[in-house]
Amino acid sequence: MKQLTIRVCPKCGSSKIRETASSVGGWLVPTTYYCEEEGCGYSGPIYVEVEAAELDTMRKIMIGEDT
Ligand SMILES: [Zn+2]
Repeated sequence: MKQLTIRVCPKCGSSKIRETASSVGGWLVPTTYYCEEEGCGYSGPIYVEVEAAELDTMRKIMIGEDT
């Protein structure tokens, strides 16, 4: 049984994180990740990888359970 992992935003915990594979004129540029979640706007060299089963738990911790 393989573990499914998901990349999430280190700022808001959203799984809408995207990778930008940028290579400018043949130069090797470090991969940057950015978050598509509205109101977040994270962009940087790191992302968080979590197991799919733990995503819910992690988001609750990051966001804080309201209600
Ligand atoms: Zn985010």
